[in-house]
Amino acid sequence: MLVNSINMLQKAKNEKYAIPQFNINNLEWTRYILEECEKNKVPVILGVSEGAAKYMGGFFVVTSLVDALIKELNITVDVCIHLDHGSSFEVCKKAIDSGFTSVMIDASKYPLEDNIKITKEVVDYAHQNNVSVEAEVGHIGGEEDGVSSDVYHATLEECIALAKTGIDSIAPALGSVHGLYKGLPNLNFERMALINQELNIPLVLHGGTGIPDSDIKKAIECGISKININTELQIAWHDAVLLFVKENDKVYDPRKVIGSGQENMKKAISSKINLFLNR
Ligand SMILES: [Zn+2]
Repeated sequence: MLVNSINMLQKAKNEKYAIPQFNINNLEWTRYILEECEKNKVPVILGVSEGAAKYMGGFFVVTSLVDALIKELNITVDVCIHLDHGSSFEVCKKAIDSGFTSVMIDASKYPLEDNIKITKEVVDYAHQNNVSVEAEVGHIGGEEDGVSSDVYHATLEECIALAKTGIDSIAPALGSVHGLYKGLPNLNFERMALINQELNIPLVLHGGTGIPDSDIKKAIECGISKININTELQIAWHDAVLLFVKENDKVYDPRKVIGSGQENMKKAISSKINLFLNR
């Protein structure tokens, strides 16, 4: 069933595990993720960046595709369609009007008071439509969808101020980066635990790729209830496809080429689920 992320994240927070957000880019990836989450009986958040939505043809294509796959594949686990890093109120509104059940407003590049103002506007519109809202404070480093930034750790005071907008979850930047890490990740667990203690909304960890399993477990202990995985699935898929193309350079059927990444990608999905849910 299509749902917003409020109940699944609150339950994860209470029971100390993390819900996976896997980013989708096309029909095949969406199907692989839904099938694997159904097999594992785990609720899932499908992350859709503005770039991915554009690539697929628009927000309404995304919601129609996910809706149709849930029906055709008899998916019974809860599924949330979530705008990843929405850059403005207008983009969030468009996603909500197209049937997204959750949005992230990322106004973290603005000064805090502007971030709060934009986030509040999104919260008001989203909640009228039963849509959940995630917001970000501080700077998550690295590069995503061509946008790069340096790391800046969120403070407790900034998180408290942003949470007052009524958001349903918060992504405080605490050292994680998008894409691949240069060297080892250095997450600010102490502050993570402090923010979790002071706020009663679930915390989100962006840039989950490349964080060692032991740090992921520690982050969940410190209050992380949602972890975003994007690059790692891309790499798992790409590794297998590359091998297939090298060994089968006469095969041009796109179903075979794209599909050659299925097994490896599903394996990566399952291993993340087991890690996030302490299975
Ligand atoms: Zn992110």
